[in-house]
Amino acid sequence: MQISWIARGLRTGVLTTRYPTVREPLPAGFRGRLRLAPGRCQAARGCDDCVRACLPRALTLEVAPDGGARRLRLNLGTCIGCGLCVETCPSGALAFDSEYELAVRDPADLWTEVAFDDGSADHELEHGGAERGENGHRG
Ligand code: SF4
Ligand code: SF4
Repeated sequence: MQISWIARGLRTGVLTTRYPTVREPLPAGFRGRLRLAPGRCQAARGCDDCVRACLPRALTLEVAPDGGARRLRLNLGTCIGCGLCVETCPSGALAFDSEYELAVRDPADLWTEVAFDDGSADHELEHGGAERGENGHRG
């Protein structure tokens, strides 16, 4: 294996990139971490377009029996980055950023959840790790 690496290096002149010391430039349209913007999301008004578009069920919507409270969850551990939800979302609430270092020790840090109470536009963001907002907490 090492001999093939050396042969490749001699042929191309490059064995490794400078990462992680220097981050390489990302191509246009790079799909990093998928982000959900609670303020734009219309789940409280009945939208579930992204959930229906998501084949691996990385996006799920839990609706209370009375149809009031809703919880929209995004699991980056299941997301395959297909982008169908981004294309489907009518309000631009979903978008990829340029972050690609997504390894975590606690799988719960890969979850993002937005809770809507009684169908109102009030919401709170819950998710783990460094991404947790000031008003966020883990459910
Ligand atoms: S990018 Fe694809 S897999 Fe990931 S949440 Fe959106 S629809 Fe699901
Ligand atoms: S498609 Fe967009 S607006 Fe609708 S529930 Fe999903 S994130 Fe919210």
